[in-house]
This record gives sequence, C-alpha cells and structure tokens, in this order.
Amino acid sequence: MRTNWALLLAAISPLALAAAAPPPTFSAERLSAVDKTLSSDAFEGRGPATPAEQKTVAYIIQQMQAAGLAPGGAIVGGKRQWTQEVPLLRSEIVGQPQLAMTIGGTAMPLTQGSEIAVRAPLDGAKQVDLAKAPLVFVGYGVTAPERQWNDFKGVDLHGKIAVVLVNDPDFETGEGAFGGKAMTYYGRWTYKYEEAARQGAAGVLIVHETAPAAYGWATVKNSNTNPQFDIVRADPKAAHAPLEAWIQRDLAVKLFQAAGLDFDAEKRAAQRQDFKPVPLKATLDAHYAADVGVIRSHNILGRVAGTTHPDETLLYTAHWDHLGIGAPDARGDRIYNGAIDNGTGISALIELGRAFAHAPKPDRSVVFMAVTAEEKGLLGSEYYAANPVYPLGRTVADINMDALSVSGAAHDFTISGSAKLGLLDDLVAAGKPLGLAFTPDPDPAAGHFYRSDHFSFAKRGVPAVSVESGRDLVEGGKARGNALAQTYVRDHYHQPSDEWHADWNWQGVTQTLTLVYDVGQKLVTSREWPNWSADSEFRAARTTSAGDRP
Ligand SMILES: [Zn+2]
Repeated sequence: MRTNWALLLAAISPLALAAAAPPPTFSAERLSAVDKTLSSDAFEGRGPATPAEQKTVAYIIQQMQAAGLAPGGAIVGGKRQWTQEVPLLRSEIVGQPQLAMTIGGTAMPLTQGSEIAVRAPLDGAKQVDLAKAPLVFVGYGVTAPERQWNDFKGVDLHGKIAVVLVNDPDFETGEGAFGGKAMTYYGRWTYKYEEAARQGAAGVLIVHETAPAAYGWATVKNSNTNPQFDIVRADPKAAHAPLEAWIQRDLAVKLFQAAGLDFDAEKRAAQRQDFKPVPLKATLDAHYAADVGVIRSHNILGRVAGTTHPDETLLYTAHWDHLGIGAPDARGDRIYNGAIDNGTGISALIELGRAFAHAPKPDRSVVFMAVTAEEKGLLGSEYYAANPVYPLGRTVADINMDALSVSGAAHDFTISGSAKLGLLDDLVAAGKPLGLAFTPDPDPAAGHFYRSDHFSFAKRGVPAVSVESGRDLVEGGKARGNALAQTYVRDHYHQPSDEWHADWNWQGVTQTLTLVYDVGQKLVTSREWPNWSADSEFRAARTTSAGDRP
C-alpha cells in the first residue's frame, strides 16, 4: 500500500497536534489519595484558624506545586504568595449558655443543642443578657419591596425576639411570588438573621422543620454550637442581632399553643401577603458570655498564567475547610472529617490544576482557589470577592466544586440551585459529546444556589455555578442515585461519619472534571465574556463591572 506522505505530514504538523492535544486523564488513584489524606483524623476536620489549618494549607500548597501550578495569591514584598490572608471575627460561647423560656406563665429551662441551638454572637458583644424578652411571630421574616411583600408591617422589634419560619412564603404551596418550590435568597437562614438585625430585633429564633430547611436538626445543632465566624465588618451590629438561634418545631408548637394558636394555621396565614405579626404569650431569658477575637485564615491560590491575555482570569474554586472538632456523635467521634464535603472538591481542584498545567499554555490565565470558611457562611469566597486578587470585571467565570459524587459514572450532570446564564449553556453544550445530559437541580427548594462559594461571585455579577455529576447513575439509574444522595444527607452530611472509603467510585468525579475542563479550555482560548440571562438579578452587576475591561 502506498503512503500519502503529504497527508501524513499535514496530520502531524504542530497546528494539527495542538488541535488534537490529547484529552487529559484524571486519576482516580490520585483523587482518592488526596481526599484520604485531607479527611484523615490527623487533619482534625480542617477548622479554619485551628492548628489543623497550617497543616491543611501546607499540604494543599505542596499538592498544587506538585501539580505544576505557580503561586497565584496576594503579592507581598514584591513576591506572589500561595495564599491570601483572610481576617475573620471569631466568637465562641464560654461554658453552657443559660437559656429559659416562660411560656404562658410557666418557666421552662432550655438545653443548648437540644430544643434550641444558639450560636455565638457576631455583633461584637462579649456578653449577651436578655431578660424576659417578648417573642413575636413574624412569619417568614421577609421584606421584599419588588414583590410587594413585607412580613413586619411596621411592628417594633426593639428589645423583642423575632420567631421566623425557614424557606420562603411559597415553598409549601409551590406557587407564588418567590419562585414556587425553588428557594429565593429570602428563604435562606442567613437572610433571616440579616433582616432581623435590620429590623432592630434583640434576637431571632428560626423554627427548624426538616422539609423547608432541607436538612435535619443534627445539621443545625452541629453548625451552630461550635465557634462562629464572620468577615471583619465596620459595623457588625448592623448585620447581626444580639441573639441568633434556631428552635425545634416541637417547641414552636408549644409556643403557639400557649397563645391559643395552631402552628400550622399560623404558618398558612404567613404564606399570604396580608399576614400580620403575632405577639406570642412567651418570653426568653438568655445569659452567656463569648470569647471574641479576630483570627486569620487563608485562601490558597495556584495559577497557570495566560500567554496573550494574562490579566483575564478563569476561576475554579472549592472550599478546603470543614467543621473541625465538635460535638461527639453516637459513636463518640468528634472529628468532622468532611471527606465528601469537601475533600472531594479539593482533590478535584488539584487534579484539574494538573491538567491545565500540562496542557498547551492558555491565552487567558486560570486560577485554582481553595477557599476557607465556607462552612462558616461562605466567608473565604466572600472575602476574596470583596478583596479580589484579580479584578472581578476581568474574571471570565467561576466554576465551583463542592461535595462531589463518589457513586460512579452518571448519564447526566447538574448545578447547585437554579440559575439562567450563558456559562450553563456552555456546560450543556460541552456535556453533549461526553454523553452527559443536563438535569436541573432535583431539589431547587433547598436553596443550593445560595449555599456554596460560587454565590459570593454571582451576587457581584461574575457568572458562577457549582457543578456536580447527576443522579442518573450508569449503575442503578436514578433510583440508586436518589437513594444514595438521600442516605448521604441523612446519615453523613455535616456529621463525623463523613469519612473516606477505599471502595468509592471516582468515575463521576472524573466525568465532572472532563466537563469543566472542556468548558474551561474553550473559555481560556476565546474572547467570550459569559453573562447572565437578561432577566437575572445578577446581570446588572456584570454590566457595571464590564467597564474594568481593557
Ligand atoms: Zn461544602
């Protein structure tokens, strides 16, 4: 057979080689090994600014370096560092808080973590003393002028405790001004706390119910009874009421009964625009001291510099922190290892960095940021977004990875929460040749769009999503995928049992990596600036920051 040398030479010309650069291989062994190390007891659950932070940061820098990344953090003394320092307010309740309710004239002591979960104060106070503070039910605690909605109706909450429901007013009916089942930001517990502070309340009690909260009491207890953090604020009292807490539904039912009210009937009333605040026949006594100070944690940034447009940055993020050491579970385990949440995301971030570091140099820069304090309220990403190392107007997009699936390959992928943006269209297009269909968040009511680090970027206009594999598993389909997801949320999410297992199947993670790598390669070799859909609440901020571009 005769060889056509001209054709063969054309096929192996540098241009053809570049175009046909082999797809990266993502190693399940390396992914598993990094996760195993990060989630081992030696890393003590990776609490920010604990002794474990130093160990965690050193390990991630070492891994980024070994993957071929350059330092991508702040410039200190003319030298680019691996990290960005993140100052945080830290507050911890000293001893057992003294808590009691007087319900219909009868005093009843409350046990921290049992009927109530009070978090350490973040308004800067070192002592909280509330005596006989009256309770007022304020429905969903929402002020949304653009939706003609105000649950407060002018009630004066000074010196009083607001009792609020979690999620937004149309969660249960599935139809209304708040996106139906999907959660708006008004449904988030962070919003409930912020709005109570704006209303001048002395405190806020969020009524826990598993369906609208989307997680059980164990999660509430574990996330609120450990040290609390915030970014350092000029006026912390504007952002936080003196007392911030959750209560169990059973206690709320008692409160309403004492006032001659039915909890479910009052909840239905709160789902209407004409709802009015209801004074309850109960008061709260709360006395506790707090140890308050400023601690310094760190975001970790590795970078591949762009060739032609190095000042334009594609960002990949994953949070390195977890809950640290806390209350013991039934087995007496106190270390919250966070193997899935978010050892998976960090091992994936490093593996992705390795792929970009070994690919042909990109036109635009790519930054891989392991952020701190996600579990404390998205604080590392919030700090970065408020103090960006690379201007947000010239940040192409943020693709975040948080708690990836170790249940094996899937036929689909998803993003956390629902949003409309060009970046998602890019992901959908990149998924097709990989055999990955897009499935919208199966549980938009859980408000996942507001629960991971991409949100710190989204609210400032940067197109941002958290990507994960779908539940339609190659082995076992949707039935097995849904069952495994439910088991994780019930038995392991934010619990000491979120531990590494040797038999995990990392194929779902390598699929996700291939997807976000392909989209990233497209973005860093194009002049495209992804944007939000025309009706998105985030588009205006993107338009404003576009002025930063050359
Ligand atoms: Zn997470």
